[in-house]
Parts: sequence; structure tokens; C-alpha cells
Amino acid sequence: MSFTSLGLSVPLLRAVAERDYAAPTPIQTGAIPAILRGGDVWASAQTGSGKTAAFALPMLELLSARSRPHGRIVRALILVPTRELAAQIGEAIRRYARYFPAPPKTLVVYGGVSINPQMMALGGGADILIATPGRLLDLLDHNALSLSAMSILVLDEADRLLDLGFSAELNRIVALLPARRQSLLFSATFPASVQALATALLRDPIRVEVAAAPATAPDIQQRVIEVDAPRRTQLLRHLVQENAWPRVLVFVATKYATEHVAEKLRKAGLTAAALHGELSQGARTAALADFKAGKVQVLLATDLAARGIDIARLPVVVNYDLPRSAVDYTHRIGRTARAGETGVAISFVSAETHAHFRLIEKRHRLELPREQIAGFEPVVTDAPALSTGGVKGRRKSKKDKLREAAASMNKPDNPSLESRRFRPWR
Ligand code: AMP
Repeated sequence: MSFTSLGLSVPLLRAVAERDYAAPTPIQTGAIPAILRGGDVWASAQTGSGKTAAFALPMLELLSARSRPHGRIVRALILVPTRELAAQIGEAIRRYARYFPAPPKTLVVYGGVSINPQMMALGGGADILIATPGRLLDLLDHNALSLSAMSILVLDEADRLLDLGFSAELNRIVALLPARRQSLLFSATFPASVQALATALLRDPIRVEVAAAPATAPDIQQRVIEVDAPRRTQLLRHLVQENAWPRVLVFVATKYATEHVAEKLRKAGLTAAALHGELSQGARTAALADFKAGKVQVLLATDLAARGIDIARLPVVVNYDLPRSAVDYTHRIGRTARAGETGVAISFVSAETHAHFRLIEKRHRLELPREQIAGFEPVVTDAPALSTGGVKGRRKSKKDKLREAAASMNKPDNPSLESRRFRPWR
């Protein structure tokens, strides 16, 4: 199977050739012809399967043959769960569309940044709008766009949209869409909530199912949570309690951090122990035994101490501090999901460490979605020169003060912080 045989026109074939895609991926082979025929599609596809091109290429083909936008009309809407994904899709679409004589107007909008430039950009309408649901509703409330003549809807990562609590927003948006439209739903998983959404949204959909990409060895769900560095301990406590994890292995960077974080968790009422190379062998064995026996719920460990640890039924590993290398990342997350079990690996990423985590992802050819946990949304807007606090002898900068304010803040959605809310990192 080649891209040419899928029915795409020359400008798109040229863009695809430029990206060195040898052949369409299974999701592309399944979805592209169905979308070109104008039908609704319900596709199960993971990130990394080539799903963006699977909807973007035929969408561009269809739009290129239709009239251009005017007024505040948006012709195609792509709803996504995160800013990160929105930006990524926008970039991909611009690349795929570059050889059209008149490339479509493609806009990306999400919350956490000023709405005014987005409203201005929407003047004159857009061919393609990529949006997170909350910001789209804000823009609709401001009358910045009209969905009345929209002809293609894409819900990307529908399961994540629902997981992140966007159900009410989606219902409001769907109620504003014209009945005559083409709808495409992409999701990695199909729990009952996504099936209900698909039933409500799609008409006689073509089902495109692709076997999950060969799992990278064990069955580990990798999650990335954005959080300001000073709030990681609180977030960890929140996650442990909220999820009632029976056992959590937490990796930190230093021996000091193992003790310090364990102490804080104990004060908060959890059972926690430290495991590092400077403990006597006896103390290490005891800490591990207690952890395995369920007497200790949270084990804080350095890389060195954790090497070779094999704990059955360890459902969760947390990278409180990121590993130094991509190899260490594999090693750490491999502590969970042993012997055919499933597991979750969570990495905390802050403004200071996001670039480092991107490198780890690149090494593993991963692009993991970023999550934020309600009440723990980052407020630090860009990477400071230092990881935390100030340095001896150095006067506190504005940013240091800001970080301190964020760290000491009990109420994360303090309105005074609203104006310097988190900016996207890419
Ligand atoms: P996605 O699943 O859309 O996030 O895509 C994952 C990666 O696969 C992106 O870097 C795409 O550029 C790339 N990709 C998409 N389609 C193909 C293809 N047919 N052959 C090789 N790589 C592809």
C-alpha cells in the first residue's frame, strides 16, 4: 500500500514524501479512504500510530475542494485534551498543507494564555481550528467564531478528553454544531463513556481498529504530570491518598531527598521509608522487607539503591526527580509491571525539567501527553536559572519570590495568580 493509492492529491503527496514516510501506517490505510468518502469514522489509535496524519491528510484534501471561510466561520474543528497536543497537531497540519497553492488558515487556541490575540486571529474565520474545549467555549461566549457552517469535526484522544473532565464542555459544544457534518473520533481506549460519546456523535461510522503497537515490553502506562517543583511532595501525597495505591516506589535524586520527603510524608500520616546507598545493609534490607510486606506504603529511593529491586505487585513508580538518562528511565519504570502485571509510571515535570524530559522522550521515540492535576496546576511560567529557591549571597529575583509565593500558597487557584498563569512550554 502506498500513499498514492489512498486517493490523496499531489500537494499532499509531496508533503508526505518530504517527511520520508515510506508507506501509510495501518491506521492511515484504514481511515484515509473512509474519510475521503465523507463518512463518519470511529478509530482506535494510540499516539505514535500516525493518527494525526490519518485525519489531517484527508481533512486537508476535502477542505481544499470547498469554499474558503468568511465572517467568523470555522470550517473544521479539532478538539483535543491538552495544549501540548493542540500545538503539535497545528504544526503537523501546517507542514502537510504547505504545498497547496493557497494553504488553509489553521489556528490553534488553548487556555492559560491571553484570549485577545486568539479573538483577533479568528477575524475572517478559519479553515481549521484546533482547540481545547474550555477555551473554545470562552471564544464562543465572546462571539469570536461561528460553528454554524462547520463541516468536519475531529475529537482526538477522546478518552483523555473525558478523563480530564471535559464531558460537560463537549456536550455544550456538540449542541452548537450543525447536524449535517462529518465526525471523526479517535481514542486509544474505548471505555463505556467513550462509547456513549461515539454513539451520540457519529452516524453509521466506519470502525477502524488497529492492533496496539507492539508494546514496549511490559504493559506500563506512562504518565507525565506538570507540577511546580516545590509542590511535588504535596502532589505525591495527594496521588497516593486519592488512588489508594497499596505500594509506591518513588525515585528522587539524592540521599537527602529520600529522607526529607519520607519525613514529610510521615508527618502527613503516610507510612514512608527511605532507601539509599549510605544506609547499612541491614537497614536497607529491613526497609525493603517492610515495603514488600505492606508495612511501608511509600518507598523513597535513589537510582543506585533501587537497582535490581524486584518487587511483585508494585503498581506504581513515580519519578519525583527525573532520571539523568533515558536508560535510567527505562530501568526505573521497569520496576513496575513485572511478570505480566500492568503498572503505571508517573513522571513529575516542572518548568525547570521539561526540556530534559523531552530529551528522554526523544530517545524513546515517545510523545507522552502532559497532565495537570486540579489544585496542583503549575504557576511558574518559565524556566528559572536555578532549580529551587535562591543561592547563597544572591539577592532574590522577582521569579524567586514568585516561586516562593507559589510554594507557600495553600489555595492554588488564588485569583491573584491568575494573571501569571502557566504558559505552554513549547
Ligand atoms: P502520531 O501518532 O500522529 O502522533 O504520529 C507519530 C509520529 O509518526 C509522528 O512523528 C509522525 O510524523 C510519524 N508518522 C506519521 N505517519 C507516518 C508514516 N506513514 N510513516 C512514518 N512515520 C509516520
